[in-house]
Amino acid sequence: MSSRTPMNCPICKTPANWEGNHWRPFCSERCQLIDLGAWASEEYRVPGQSLLVTPSELDDPEDLS
Ligand SMILES: [Zn+2]
Repeated sequence: MSSRTPMNCPICKTPANWEGNHWRPFCSERCQLIDLGAWASEEYRVPGQSLLVTPSELDDPEDLS
C-alpha cells in the first residue's frame, strides 16, 4: 500500500492530499467552509432522510427491556 492516498476534493474536484491535510476530505479550509455552508442551507438534505434522532434512539435507561 502507498502512504499517499490520491483523492479529489468533493467540492471543487481538485486533487488533494490526504496526508497532513487538516481539511480533509476537502482540499482547503475554503472548500470545507463551502461544504458546511451547504449543510447549513440544507442543500445536502436527502428527501426522506431525517437527521433528527428519534426518541427511541436516545440513550434511555428506562427502555432496556
Ligand atoms: Zn476543494
